[in-house]
Amino acid sequence: MSDKKSAIDVIQSAGGLVWRDAPQGRELLIIHRPKYDDWTLPKGKLEPGESWTQAALREVWEETGCTAEIKSFAGCICYEYKGIPKIVLFWNMKALEHCQFHPTKEVDRIQWMRVDELQKTLSYRDEKRLVTKISKL
Ligand code: ATP
Repeated sequence: MSDKKSAIDVIQSAGGLVWRDAPQGRELLIIHRPKYDDWTLPKGKLEPGESWTQAALREVWEETGCTAEIKSFAGCICYEYKGIPKIVLFWNMKALEHCQFHPTKEVDRIQWMRVDELQKTLSYRDEKRLVTKISKL
């Protein structure tokens, strides 16, 4: 195994299932990343010394401009990236106010989406599985 791979044995990442209750029903916040042309839940890697929940809230803020309040643990997903295992823990979060989103190179669009429409838009099967419980919270 190369030095680079042995230095990071598991990539740790945290994110949020951020919801709001609109007149048409509960909506979840998803992001579009031009680099991969995918639609995903907001998430990102832990910084040194940061807790999992701090990272989840920070990544939601950085990627969407939304402040949110953590309500409960949502679950985790796990996959491999360049041969290194990656684990992502997600928390259910309620959006606190209108999001101040500014497009960046990493995230060019965000979208509030009705829970029943997420299955055809989210890019990854494990994230689709994770969001199925959000309407019952
Ligand atoms: P982050 O800062 O959010 O961790 P990143 O670009 O470093 O972003 P990923 O979002 O893990 O890392 O993307 C790296 C690769 O993994 C991309 O090729 C992407 O398509 C793929 N990927 C992202 N999410 C999943 C997933 N849930 N299942 C499988 N592959 C995924």
